[in-house]
Amino acid sequence: MYGDRPGAQGFTTVLIDPGHGGKDSGARGRIRGMPEKVVALDIAKRLQGELSSTFHASLTRSSDVFIPLDERVAIANRAGDAIVVSIHLNDGPRRLAGAETYWWRTDSYSLAKRVQASLRGVVAGSNNRGMVRRRLRLTRNPEIPGILVECGYLSNANEADLLSSPGYRGRIAQAIARAIREQAANGDAGMGPLPKPIYAPPSKASDARS
Ligand SMILES: [Zn+2]
Repeated sequence: MYGDRPGAQGFTTVLIDPGHGGKDSGARGRIRGMPEKVVALDIAKRLQGELSSTFHASLTRSSDVFIPLDERVAIANRAGDAIVVSIHLNDGPRRLAGAETYWWRTDSYSLAKRVQASLRGVVAGSNNRGMVRRRLRLTRNPEIPGILVECGYLSNANEADLLSSPGYRGRIAQAIARAIREQAANGDAGMGPLPKPIYAPPSKASDARS
């Protein structure tokens, strides 16, 4: 997995992991009645719809249930020739907006880069955010390539407004799906060299990211 050009390619299964669920609502944000767990599940189901003609696309949860992080990792490890894509919404100071894509394994770098680039076309502010290499439970522990996508900030008034629109959530799903298809077809081709190793401390976040 740490070879010269290690990126995921030719995989047949995409495991989509909607963040949080059940007793764990995630970020509350500004969309009334739609905490992070609800928005994440909606985008995840749309992503499954986008991918299902090309891949075996499955979900770690398809309803509002709590699944511990280690169980999500175990599901990923049973997924076979697969990648795992965890879907979250961000929370932070009100001025922050845009998508962020977290990765850790070197075989997940190109996937993260493709997803972040694709989201830039949909999610305003993503040029200022970007890719983060961090040892999150879902980027570090599964035995398959994986990324965690923060699709936008529920704490930003403008972005929360956009995320309340089903059409906007659909465009986010389409953008992520496009990047996944490109990764499956092309692997690392055109993605440039891997970044040099960097110091990446474990997340201090108290939610599912750590
Ligand atoms: Zn989250």
